[in-house]
Amino acid sequence: LPRSGDEDPDPAGVPPAPGTGPASLRARSVSAWFGSHQVLDRVSLDMPARRVTALIGPSGCGKSTFLRILNRMHELIASASLAGEVLLDGEDIYDRGRRITHARRQIGMVFQKPNPFPAMSIYDNVVSGLRLNGRRAGRGEKDALVEECLTKSGLWKEVRDRLRQPGGALSGGQQQRLCIARSLAVRPRVLLMDEPCSALDPTSTRRIEETIAELSEEVTIVIVTHNMQQAQRVSQLCAFFLAEQGTPGVIVEHGPTTAMFRSPRDSRTADYVQGRF
Ligand code: ADP
Ligand code: MG
Repeated sequence: LPRSGDEDPDPAGVPPAPGTGPASLRARSVSAWFGSHQVLDRVSLDMPARRVTALIGPSGCGKSTFLRILNRMHELIASASLAGEVLLDGEDIYDRGRRITHARRQIGMVFQKPNPFPAMSIYDNVVSGLRLNGRRAGRGEKDALVEECLTKSGLWKEVRDRLRQPGGALSGGQQQRLCIARSLAVRPRVLLMDEPCSALDPTSTRRIEETIAELSEEVTIVIVTHNMQQAQRVSQLCAFFLAEQGTPGVIVEHGPTTAMFRSPRDSRTADYVQGRF
């Protein structure tokens, strides 16, 4: 549940939340370019709090670019430029004068390929997220935070007795759950997931899906997936991206997931969700 910024600190001494629970995210007329190559054209999408929004569409239509724009990650790519607005609870994360960390603390990201720091311990992987939070935490606080975040990501029972082992020693699915725990350590208000299960086996995929369902109460989730069953299992809202022959990516259709799969309005959506391209 959302925590108000005025509450007493958690008795376990966990660092205070940078925000106050799940936030809504709204893209308004977002266009993007790599050099002179336009890859997104005026994409607008509401991603409300306490909902899971799935982004679907064929490869190359700009889903990952859009996700990166939602937490200013694309700024790491020198050739990238952007028009439009991204509003976090109504505040533009691109407002001049806003620091990049303002967005990054509140909007976490998990990638397709699990990317824990492989030589770093499981424990240190989780607390490494705190660097973004801008304050030093004591040992007790860190212990509590590690247990909390690993519990939320569904990994605690498996690793509680080997927190000092390297993150790289875990299985692929466990590494992904470690990455989720790491991203939760700053108490983000939004979690972006770019095909988080594409590199995982079905059992690990199921466990991540269960975790997503549990997390959606406390963090707004936006997930890119190529798996149509997964989109239907995990999301309440869905947006279908498409880049037709040499044109930049657009959202063809968006709305409640059940409606989009049961009765798509656009024939291209119908073709895609039924696996015809
Ligand atoms: P998706 O995630 O839907 O597969 P991407 O957002 O990765 O799509 O890519 C959208 C388009 O942007 C593609 O044409 C891709 O080649 C291009 N693109 C992605 N990343 C870069 C980059 N770093 N530099 C130049 N072009 C890029
Ligand atoms: Mg992608």
